[in-house]
Amino acid sequence: MQELTHFLNGQQNKGTSGRFADVFNPATGEVQSQCPMASVDETTKAIEDAAAAQVAWGATNPQKRARVMMAMVGLMNRDMDKLAETLSREHGKTIPDAKGDLQRGLEVIEYCIGAPQMLKGEFTDSAGPGIDMYSMKQALGVVASIMPFNFPAMMPLWHVGPALACGNAVVLKPSERDPSVPLMLAELFVEAGLPAGVFQVVNGDKEAVDTLLDSEIIQGVSFVGSTPIAQYIYSRATANGKRAQCFGGAKNHLIVMPDADMDQAADALIGAGFGAAGERCMAISVAVPVGEETADRLVEKLVPRIERLRVAPYTDGDDVDYGPVVTREAKERIMGLIQSGVDQGAELVVDNREFSLQGYENGFFVGPHLFDRVTPDMDIYKTEIFGPVLSCVRAGSYEEAIGLAMDHEYGNGTAIYTRDGDTARDFASRINIGMVGINVPIPVPLAYHTFGGWKKSMFGDLNQHGPDSFKFYTRTKTVTARWPSGIKEGGEFNFKAMD
Ligand code: NAD
Repeated sequence: MQELTHFLNGQQNKGTSGRFADVFNPATGEVQSQCPMASVDETTKAIEDAAAAQVAWGATNPQKRARVMMAMVGLMNRDMDKLAETLSREHGKTIPDAKGDLQRGLEVIEYCIGAPQMLKGEFTDSAGPGIDMYSMKQALGVVASIMPFNFPAMMPLWHVGPALACGNAVVLKPSERDPSVPLMLAELFVEAGLPAGVFQVVNGDKEAVDTLLDSEIIQGVSFVGSTPIAQYIYSRATANGKRAQCFGGAKNHLIVMPDADMDQAADALIGAGFGAAGERCMAISVAVPVGEETADRLVEKLVPRIERLRVAPYTDGDDVDYGPVVTREAKERIMGLIQSGVDQGAELVVDNREFSLQGYENGFFVGPHLFDRVTPDMDIYKTEIFGPVLSCVRAGSYEEAIGLAMDHEYGNGTAIYTRDGDTARDFASRINIGMVGINVPIPVPLAYHTFGGWKKSMFGDLNQHGPDSFKFYTRTKTVTARWPSGIKEGGEFNFKAMD
């Protein structure tokens, strides 16, 4: 049995708590390694060491910090295959998906190479007689990142990259379900030239998280995960006077207008609904066809596509559509929600409740499911299922369709499929959701824009990556300076000359 570690002060660290979490291979259902769960004392020490290391790192010029990012890009590309294989083995996603996870993280590291430009301050010459005023962006100090299981490379890199580039030290608490890639990334950062202690990886659970939230040293907290935990982290961190940004769950609607290209819409729903087994915060879990005829045409196109999906372990090759979900508990939860959909009267058009994969009977595979005639009062509509389940809610009009998306408590992403510019423009303008796609099913903004939802998908006010991340990980100091313009007399400044 492999024993995982923490990564502290530039080295692997086995931990001393004596508590471990099992890490599974979701394809086989076997425990493949054990991950140490940090105690309060271990977490506290990791934070203190980060604070000591941050002093010199914060004083390092931004260009040098950017060079670490540049080197990191090269090292991640060098190790891409190894990282992707490790990621797939712990998470279950296919190798192309794992490479996408790494690539989207890498793009934020590339963005961070621009740190010197992003961190430039402002200067007002002659704000008063002999007075100049300037503002500078300084690192917060030590920040914490508490991350989810579903993007074990991308999510940490979205936070650690900008935080480090701004001169902070980071204590990362990865998901206990797939901690290996974050550990590998921390090692690569050290190889890239990051001083020891500036990036600490503390594996753990609530005990480690609460220690981070209560620490007086931690100045900022970034969280990504489910909404109830996001709310908890946001309130505890802010009650302790910390800056916080907490990103939560989602229920993303894709509206299909009668004039949409129906093949494109169906293909989009397959990729966005079932890719990565639906374990994406930007997954489309609700299709909203407008009009009965549109709905009939859409469902007719979806069914054969869903039946063709290849569900298998990542080791079966690049033509696998998706793999297992992350844990047995996740599978049981998803199956329970599917049953609730049947019980509450939705029409299960594609039913794979008996799905099993020969040779992988203990793996956490869930076959693809399609529900039609779902209504807003059903649990499968209200809840984030986070599995390969697509719900079709038939709307009578565009107004009804947009109303559904607007009334849902989540507001992460949404999309509309239409050929009509007026409708698309109206949708983008009125919708109360953070990320919008027009004939694009998963509208994930690129590294130089920002990523964040609205409503119960986000707590805080600055988004992930892009310019917002440089704002989140710095604070502004403004200096008003008046220099004596008088002539030095007898070793003393002549302050009189200033009047
Ligand atoms: P999760 O909320 O279970 O766990 C996230 C992190 O919180 C983990 O590190 C976990 O150890 C920690 N945690 C869990 N329970 C805790 C508790 N009681 N106290 C303190 N810490 C606790 O989420 P998950 O299952 O790992 O990730 C899936 C969720 O993340 C989905 O809801 C998904 O939509 C969301 N997500 C959101 C975004 C976004 O940008 N909005 C991105 C990715 C994932």
